[in-house]
Amino acid sequence: MKPVVGVVGLGLIGGSILKGLKKQGYKLIAVSRTETSIETAKGLNLADTYSTNMDCLKNADVVFVCAPISKTIETIEKVAEHTKPTAIIADVASLKGFIVDYFNDKSNIKFIGTHPMAGTEFKGIENSPEELYVEAKWVITPTQNTDKEDINTIKLIIEDIKAIPIIAEADEHDKAVSLISHFPLLVSQSLFGTVQNHSDKSVKNLAFKLAASGFRDTTRIAATNIELAKDMEIHNKKNVLESLENFKKYIDDIKNLLESNEEAFIDTISEIAEHRNKLYSKDGKNIFPIYPID
Ligand code: NAP
Repeated sequence: MKPVVGVVGLGLIGGSILKGLKKQGYKLIAVSRTETSIETAKGLNLADTYSTNMDCLKNADVVFVCAPISKTIETIEKVAEHTKPTAIIADVASLKGFIVDYFNDKSNIKFIGTHPMAGTEFKGIENSPEELYVEAKWVITPTQNTDKEDINTIKLIIEDIKAIPIIAEADEHDKAVSLISHFPLLVSQSLFGTVQNHSDKSVKNLAFKLAASGFRDTTRIAATNIELAKDMEIHNKKNVLESLENFKKYIDDIKNLLESNEEAFIDTISEIAEHRNKLYSKDGKNIFPIYPID
């Protein structure tokens, strides 16, 4: 029998989890702090039970806490006051180290860290895509107290939603997502900021007028909702700054090639394009398992 699943925090991610699980016939409990989100969720027929009161979670077998990163720990602790002792509480925050560390010392709460590797720059349940997780990776970062059985329960839910579970160690996860998500966010913001602050106003305005899909794609994530963007960059500051140092070294190397060795420069950017083409399929799917990188 499928577990009864509660979702706390009816934003973009919470909404997408409800939509994905609803399709698979799960019994769902939707919890929000606000009547407005409850009314929106009801209007979309996303759950079986809706409430602003966490008491309604008493029959949940699994609860996904989908709150902002900086509110995740306190929300999990509140949820644990209302759930049965066997209930598994998972989060979806984009950072895992500090949350997993915190619950390593709280063996009375059956917590499992998770992070779905799918999202958009928007916020709110009204923007949550129904098929957000189809073929997306979904990281699981257990604590030192997590039971194997609980990991399996979470894995089955993730697979039911059509995502691909990946078990990782929390600190390593934070380093990896700095490289491919949180640091690229800083680059995207800086790219936009560089044009925005260009000293020649006439050139700047012409550039913005001409900006097409290339600039749109490389700066898309600069429009990420600010609460999420600042949480990812500030909570993962150490790794983001380390990624920035590596980037500065790399871009200096490329700059030197461009200045003084055009042939080597062309070889380097050709190699990058070749690898980039192998990482994603033509329809934009990450095909890493098919593409072995040393
Ligand atoms: P969102 O659309 O802004 O939703 C966040 C929800 O959290 C709000 O709708 C609200 O739900 C609840 N919330 C807001 N303030 C709160 C507070 N002070 N205490 C408790 N709950 C509060 O943001 P989101 O994109 O869904 O992000 C939610 C989580 O998903 C974050 O931890 C983020 O790191 C993670 N995540 C996001 C993405 C992405 O691309 N968006 C991808 C992967 C993971 P109610 O009004 O219903 O209470």
